[in-house]
Amino acid sequence: MPAGWMVRCARRWRGDLIKLKITCREATQITLQAEDRTMPLAERLSVRLHRRICSNCRRFFRQVQLMRQASARWRQYTDE
Ligand SMILES: [Zn+2]
Repeated sequence: MPAGWMVRCARRWRGDLIKLKITCREATQITLQAEDRTMPLAERLSVRLHRRICSNCRRFFRQVQLMRQASARWRQYTDE
């Protein structure tokens, strides 16, 4: 992921502490970004709220989680 994108994203998020209504596009971006576990609490909450009302993003999040678990297992396996 290009560093410039992260900076731009962080700048966009600064200002409003918790954005209650985010778009599916934003939720998707944050979910993918969450892999490094450095995202602010406000973003995590916004995505969690969004997932409660959006079944599409719920399904997407579940798939991302499955993929991550699979790749984590794979990484563990190749490290040995
Ligand atoms: Zn959505």
